[in-house]
Amino acid sequence: MAIEPTQFVTGQNFALTLDKQDPLAHFRDEFIFPKKQNNEPYIYLCGNSLGLQPKKVKSYIEQELSDWSKYGVLGHLRAKNPWYSYHELLTKNLSHIVGAKGHEVVVMNTLSVNLHLMMVSFYQPTATRNKIIIEGGAFPSDQYAVQSQIKFHGFDPKSSLIEVKPKDGESTLTENDFLETIEKHGNETALVLIGNVNYLTGQAFSIKSLTEKAHSKGCKIGFDLAHGAGNLQLRLHDDGPDFAVWCSYKYLNGGPGSLGGVFVHERHSKDFTLPRFAGWWGHNKVTRFEMSDQFEPMIGAEGWQLSNPPIFQLAALKASLEIFEEASMNEITAKSNLMTGYLEFLVSRCPDIEIITPKNRGAQLSLRFKNQTNTAGMEKKLEELGIIVDFRNPNIIRAAPAPLYCKFLDIYRFWEAIDEHAKK
Ligand SMILES: *Cc1c(COP(=O)(O)O)cnc(C)c1O
Repeated sequence: MAIEPTQFVTGQNFALTLDKQDPLAHFRDEFIFPKKQNNEPYIYLCGNSLGLQPKKVKSYIEQELSDWSKYGVLGHLRAKNPWYSYHELLTKNLSHIVGAKGHEVVVMNTLSVNLHLMMVSFYQPTATRNKIIIEGGAFPSDQYAVQSQIKFHGFDPKSSLIEVKPKDGESTLTENDFLETIEKHGNETALVLIGNVNYLTGQAFSIKSLTEKAHSKGCKIGFDLAHGAGNLQLRLHDDGPDFAVWCSYKYLNGGPGSLGGVFVHERHSKDFTLPRFAGWWGHNKVTRFEMSDQFEPMIGAEGWQLSNPPIFQLAALKASLEIFEEASMNEITAKSNLMTGYLEFLVSRCPDIEIITPKNRGAQLSLRFKNQTNTAGMEKKLEELGIIVDFRNPNIIRAAPAPLYCKFLDIYRFWEAIDEHAKK
């Protein structure tokens, strides 16, 4: 894109200019927007919570409904997209989104389930090395998952769970806080698990440097990419973490409760000595239907699959991933940086709003309203103005412009609305 953040100016015309120059602008037409009573589309800044529906999802699901009615069980092999190997149709596009090799990723289950499955393999505590290092204020599901894994292995979260907290007087973590904690406790730590983008603050952490540090101390390291997949340019293979998990209903627009994704680094792809919970869909697909009682795992991430997957949900996600492939993460993140930079530029002119999100981030900005004690009034007001964002009591808004379907004018309108409200 031609415009640099240093060239931002105020005024609505500038937003219109940015929209005119936007090479991804046409992708907006591929999505369905929720509408107000007057039939105007909402300004939708909630793609970090639930992404919008790509128009072609419907026909992709209808194809499978039709093949089911036409073929019954024979559809496993005869459907237009045979169900037996349907998940493979998503692999290439997904691997491009997270920067992995094809055999390092698979779509299966949902995020929290996958996190447990990965910990079965990569959290192997011993008497002297049983700790898990995690960011303080992690998403609740991740906290429950690590606590329950620690207990499952007979240890106590009070002593085996280390939560990295911001230094006194600081409101967010720094990468150094993690590096120092890993340096200090790494020798007793079995697993480092970090959300690469914090769900509340939108802050992003470097997968590469944290991975190098964890590995230098002999720890395994995994990432929760719930807010990273489809948001940041990821290079999982090169950066080298042992595993990663994510959901696909946020930035990836896979639909409510959509399937999760898993990355297992190539270095583990043929390690069949790793403990794992097994199911028939992880078994060598050539001999799967011989119904042997001896589990023979597939090579790579597919070897962690348990069940035959839900085809309608895969169809929805397939439709969405094709849009990402067409637009490319490179272009998506370029627009994202510009858009969120523009939002930051506008909001930084409002003295009554504090931007909590540090500079290293993806699409999301978290904003604190200094004069507000409760978000309820704001929520109602913004909805009346046709804006959907996410509210966290007492006074925080999370706004995430998704580059595939948001336009710069949306940002301008949102800023107008909150600027007005912040003063009260
Ligand atoms: C959204 C989110 C989840 C949700 O987990 P599900 O198993 O998909 O319900 C978990 N962890 C993080 C960090 C999230 O942002």
